Amino acid sequence: MTTTARRTPEPGTWLGIPAFPEAAKAELANDQQRGNLRHATTTIRAKRVTRASEVDDWEDLRTAAAQIKDRVARHLDDYLIQAEKAMTEAGITVHWARDAADANAIVADIAKAKGVDEVVKIKSMVTQEIDLNEHLEAEGIAAWETDLAELIVQLGHDLPSHILVPAIHRNRTEVREIFAREMGLYGRPAPENITDEPAELAEAARLHLREKFLRAKMAVSGGNFIVADTGTLVIVESEGNGRMCLTLPETLVSVVGIEKVLPSLQDLEVFLKLLPRSSTGERMNPYTSFWTGVTPGDGPQDLHVILLDNGRTNVLADPEGRAALRCIRCSACLNICPVYERVGGHAYGSPYPGPIGAILGPQLRGLEGENERALPFASTLCGACNDVCPVKIPFTDILVHLRHKAVEHKTAHHPTGEQALMKGAAWVMADGSHLATVQTGSRLAGRIFKNRWLGKMPIPLAGRWLRARDVEAPPTQTFRQWWKKNQGDHR
Ligand code: SF4
Repeated sequence: MTTTARRTPEPGTWLGIPAFPEAAKAELANDQQRGNLRHATTTIRAKRVTRASEVDDWEDLRTAAAQIKDRVARHLDDYLIQAEKAMTEAGITVHWARDAADANAIVADIAKAKGVDEVVKIKSMVTQEIDLNEHLEAEGIAAWETDLAELIVQLGHDLPSHILVPAIHRNRTEVREIFAREMGLYGRPAPENITDEPAELAEAARLHLREKFLRAKMAVSGGNFIVADTGTLVIVESEGNGRMCLTLPETLVSVVGIEKVLPSLQDLEVFLKLLPRSSTGERMNPYTSFWTGVTPGDGPQDLHVILLDNGRTNVLADPEGRAALRCIRCSACLNICPVYERVGGHAYGSPYPGPIGAILGPQLRGLEGENERALPFASTLCGACNDVCPVKIPFTDILVHLRHKAVEHKTAHHPTGEQALMKGAAWVMADGSHLATVQTGSRLAGRIFKNRWLGKMPIPLAGRWLRARDVEAPPTQTFRQWWKKNQGDHR
């Protein structure tokens, strides 16, 4: 085994990725990725439609899910306190984290207190959001991803490009190369002469991960739901790797966004029907784990839940944007989005890509950065995401709202040409004498450009705008003059 300075593969970095318009241009040129994405999203889309149409009350379920999530948002403080109390009584240690730094420090401190220098991880968006792996690496703790797609991304020194299928941009030939090159550096190598047959690749991953599962004393996960009245942590996954992480290690630490709380188990039922059909097009989730505290001899004996804010209360504070917190990370909006399908996830510059990334990222991180201000424009506003979202997030409304905020933010100190124009228009409209002065000028222009389209004229400042619009030369008389001439006698 080759020695490396780091314990885990050095990942790609979001730092330095340009704002969406520029990043998207570069990604559009990647034909291989576009082909992989088209194939994968088309397949998942079709499965979702089939499974959703099997459920007679699908639309009612979506409405119920949206209403439950909105109720949680309205009373989040109460539900969180209730959840904390119930979890504590059940034997779970509850921590509160204001931001990424808080949450990362709590996880590292628990690992150090346990004398652990490596952890196994269940795929989780929230630990991507807080960059937990890199923080643990800096603390000398190796974090091993155990979800197949996350493993491919980690071993490939790559970045995830999809919520559910982080390696969606890779094809199996690329996966074979990554496994053959990297696995041996971080554990059991891939078999010699491994081919790109899916069964062989899966077997290589299974053997590579097995030794990590059997060694691990601590696991780290996210959490799909927390049931407030019972204090139950709910984690869903498809491969069984999560079940290994949730049952073998003695310690489990789950980082959970504060919006993941649900009032009761009855409410959970709605989401367990919607989630698998919306995400993978399955009728039922293959592995659904419930932990209500610890049970001697069964599963983790020390269970920690870290309730993370990291910008979520800011989202909650905006009545027009807060519906983004309904998201259950199913990825249906990504799979239907014509923009995502063509540019992939990296162009969005954060672990949350696609339509949900375009509305959640700028709200979680604020609109200070150019990248965040660009994201609400990364959409055609076609509304396909509105139609598939199982929790009925009104994407197009939120996108328009955020566009408005982004423009306001950008122009607060730098008025644009359009704003100057509007200011001028306001002056003209404010007083009849101003209007008459401008009309004199416009009549003159009408005579000069008579019967011609303005688009082809070399008009300073407005030339670019006019190129794409059919605008006639101004009239040579005002409406009042025309009225006097044509209608005056009939009054
Ligand atoms: S926004 Fe809706 S469709 Fe998109 S990932 Fe979240 S729940 Fe799924």
